[in-house]
Amino acid sequence: MTQKTIFKKIIDREIPAEIEYEDELCLAFKDIHPQAPVHLVVIPKKEIPMVDDITEEDEATIGHLFVVMRTIARQLGLTGGYRVVVNNGPDAGQEVMHVHYHMLAGRKFGWPPG
Ligand code: AMP
Repeated sequence: MTQKTIFKKIIDREIPAEIEYEDELCLAFKDIHPQAPVHLVVIPKKEIPMVDDITEEDEATIGHLFVVMRTIARQLGLTGGYRVVVNNGPDAGQEVMHVHYHMLAGRKFGWPPG
């Protein structure tokens, strides 16, 4: 049996997280090493290792994550905007092999990203 990722352990409540939003399809919680005043990790409950593994049957779930991020942004009053980042694979710096969106806000972000 393969080891559970840290995010699967959060879904299964085996390790704690500061959960901001949850529904049947997804979970959003505070990043443990925040890179901005607001830094949430938004994940599907379905275990998909990386963007490269997303299939057509995941379209509704992945689309739902964006609707959830919009809802969270309204709840948190992120009127100045926010950045959504997805790291896919080693060159992008993906560390946790469970698809996730970083939702960052509360400061200005540079472009191009590092
Ligand atoms: P990535 O490099 O895109 O795979 O991002 C993984 C993110 O997960 C990093 O920003 C970590 O700080 C974050 N992270 C790792 N473990 C935890 C945890 N237990 N609770 C919340 N965030 C975590």
